[in-house]
Amino acid sequence: MKYSVFSLLKNTLSGHRNWTPAWREPDPKKHYDVIIVGGGGHGLATAYYLARQHGITNVAVLEKSYIGSGNVGRNTTIIRSNYLLPGNEPFYEWSLKLWEGLEQDFNFNAMVSQRGVINLFHSDPQRDAFARRGNSMRMHGVDAELLDRDRLREMVPYLDFDNGRFPIYGGLLQKRGGTVRHDAVAWGFARGADMAGVDIIQNCEVSGFRFDQGKVVGVETSKGFIGASKVGMAAAGHSGQVAEMAGMRLPIESHVLQAFVSEGLKPYINNVVTFGVGHFYISQSDKGGLVFGGDLDGYNSYAQRGNLPMVEHVVEAGIAMMPGLSRIKVLRSWGGVMDMSMDGSPIIDKTHIDGLYINCGWCYGGFKATPASGWCFAHTIANDAPHELNAAFRLNRFATGDMIDESGNGPTPNLH
Ligand SMILES: Cc1cc2nc3c(=O)[nH]c(=O)nc-3n(C[C@H](O)[C@H](O)[C@H](O)COP(=O)(O)OP(=O)(O)OC[C@H]3O[C@@H](n4cnc5c(N)ncnc54)[C@H](O)[C@@H]3O)c2cc1C
Repeated sequence: MKYSVFSLLKNTLSGHRNWTPAWREPDPKKHYDVIIVGGGGHGLATAYYLARQHGITNVAVLEKSYIGSGNVGRNTTIIRSNYLLPGNEPFYEWSLKLWEGLEQDFNFNAMVSQRGVINLFHSDPQRDAFARRGNSMRMHGVDAELLDRDRLREMVPYLDFDNGRFPIYGGLLQKRGGTVRHDAVAWGFARGADMAGVDIIQNCEVSGFRFDQGKVVGVETSKGFIGASKVGMAAAGHSGQVAEMAGMRLPIESHVLQAFVSEGLKPYINNVVTFGVGHFYISQSDKGGLVFGGDLDGYNSYAQRGNLPMVEHVVEAGIAMMPGLSRIKVLRSWGGVMDMSMDGSPIIDKTHIDGLYINCGWCYGGFKATPASGWCFAHTIANDAPHELNAAFRLNRFATGDMIDESGNGPTPNLH
């Protein structure tokens, strides 16, 4: 069913009793051309683009729980392409371009809101670093604007500009950055893929791989064996566990990241704002809740919940940036499992096993990458070779020394 103003009118007149489910609940077939392990944003987007860009529709997405139960439905919804390094910037900019046309493309309202992302800086050297990043973005044809203190104060007057310890000197603005309703992205890609013929199989956990003469021939699942000519792993925080079933040890650590939502307030924060001296970022949802987050909990875990010391740490950083936050009640918080890579950049590649492909290492920035990740992973699977946009995201770059260390923190996954 195509969504439009006409379908809305028609269904209004029939009392909204005739809407059809957004996607089917099929039983798995015996064999698929491609199986994607993991029905998060990246897995669903991959299936969508396999069907839409490459005409490969005999595809199944196998999800161990329900669609949207992983990080795609747990993140703080920020999209942007304000990267410094050549390997990253073209990829994330392509993602932002895909976001800009996505709702029309998959015929679903994902509430893409380009409200602007502002990164605050608090010292002269930090201004230099942000100016460099902004220049690098502009050299890639991406919008970036360095805001001085007065201009920033007009835009975000509620910040503590004269904080004795962390005074605010200005900010780097990317106007085209913003937010997207995260679970609508999962639903939109799921519906779009289903309409193109992809089978989305929920509550189907992959528990092993089957190989024949060094080539993948299918996966063992909680619904039995399912054959496949090619298999793509897109399990995000559980990538290490899934790859281990194929005998692979990944350069990935799993960590918990928490998110917080306050009580609903009148419109107050018009942009996404990030603190420059601690890890803290905030935006306001259309329902009025302030949505914010900060650092990883700091220990390896597969639990989708966090601990209290990080709550205190995040709130401290938030109040240093924005004292008014101390008067606001937090209503909800939750955690997600992050696939932290050694250099903070992702992996989209073939593996050494014929027919087996990998997509992981999204750290805590993979939501914004969802469309481009699916687009590039679909290309890699369909052509058995990476697209130039993901050519740098190789699995073996840690062996060859071609790291893409955007934050300059070295091989310390929890610091990226
Ligand atoms: C609190 C928080 C805030 C974040 N904020 C942002 C942000 O503002 N901007 C941004 O860009 N990124 C953000 N991220 C990161 C982003 O959400 C992730 O990088 C991204 O969603 C990961 O890709 P995914 O959507 O495919 O993951 P997921 O949705 O986790 O998908 C992976 C799926 O694989 C399934 N799976 C695992 N093992 C198996 C198996 N054996 N068999 C079958 N299925 C399996 C899981 O159930 C899961 O549904 C945030 C993350 C968190 C937790």
